[in-house]
Amino acid sequence: MQFKDVMVDEGLKRHLALLADENRISHAQLFLGKNGTHNFALAVAFAQYICCEDKHDGDSCGKCHSCKMFEKLQHPDLHLIFPNCIARSVKKDPESDLFAQDFRDFVFEHNYHIDFNDWVKELKSENKVVSINIRDCASIIRKNSVRAHENGYKIYIVWMAEKLHHTAAPKLLKTLEEPENKTLFILLAESTDAILPTILSRTQLVKLPPMPEEVIKQHLIDEECLSEEEAADIAAISENNYAKALSLKNESLELHQFQKYYAAFVKSASTYVTSGNLEEMNYPEIQDIIKEISKSSKDFQRNLMHYFSRMFRNELLVSQKDNLLVKATAEEYKTLETYAPFFTLKNAMPLYNECNKASRHLERNANTMLVFTDFYFKLAEFFSKR
Ligand SMILES: [Zn+2]
Repeated sequence: MQFKDVMVDEGLKRHLALLADENRISHAQLFLGKNGTHNFALAVAFAQYICCEDKHDGDSCGKCHSCKMFEKLQHPDLHLIFPNCIARSVKKDPESDLFAQDFRDFVFEHNYHIDFNDWVKELKSENKVVSINIRDCASIIRKNSVRAHENGYKIYIVWMAEKLHHTAAPKLLKTLEEPENKTLFILLAESTDAILPTILSRTQLVKLPPMPEEVIKQHLIDEECLSEEEAADIAAISENNYAKALSLKNESLELHQFQKYYAAFVKSASTYVTSGNLEEMNYPEIQDIIKEISKSSKDFQRNLMHYFSRMFRNELLVSQKDNLLVKATAEEYKTLETYAPFFTLKNAMPLYNECNKASRHLERNANTMLVFTDFYFKLAEFFSKR
């Protein structure tokens, strides 16, 4: 990662390069910036710059042996420390080093815009405390006692320093208080609130400005091929977090599918009530949709059922003229208004219960084709009992 690829203020990059050029790097830095933005990328670019064998024009060369190893995050003097826990791949005594490859893959997959919640999902840990633990700090001390491989700096990037477990903090503090020569700690955190004051007082603070909406929008257009309008919508609700913008993008793709399926189901079921004509119900189309659904992931299927129940609630609100309480996009609103007459106080609750029942069956790995087919016929039945 070179400075030129980090979407951050040029002044800040020049400042960091100058610190390195003039040998004024404080041995412990705290980069304060939002999760899912350029915090991690900037730390790596800074570390790469320090170790580069041919830095010029305020940036690393991207070509030397050191830079090549940095590109793979495998430089022997770069140590990554991050929250971890017992997981499927590590059954006991977890520490960052045991997750090194998983973490690198995670970083590359998110193009360096890493978010804590995404990492927790990646660890597939349930109800476990995810933290930087005492073994991580012991490993830092162990590494600190040997010389740097490349005869330069040893650099520790501690991602999510606020997740430092209270039992581990004193060990890290001791290391920060008695720094070895040519050792650099870059602590990354979202806020200083959860960091021990004694650790704070040992670090030099570098504040990263939030990622502007406009920059996020442009990236979504350039790299994710979104339309100007879609990119602007997502950037506006991304809370200056690029990782969040990406997950919103995926959700929005999912949402389009949900809208399509929902509209097809209610259209067909309502036709059965109004015409009583099986042919007009266009059942083959529903069968095709159910086949499509059955090929999707279990998460998708459960979310879809959750979507149906949310829409049923909205339909009832629209039919009762309680429109102010409706939470829906403009597109959904059109569907809601068309089919609201089929939702009454009489059938809303049974329909809602059908959603819950179907969800439970999906949880228990019931046959998806059967669950959705059954659900579809119940929908038609309750429409006629409105
Ligand atoms: Zn280089």
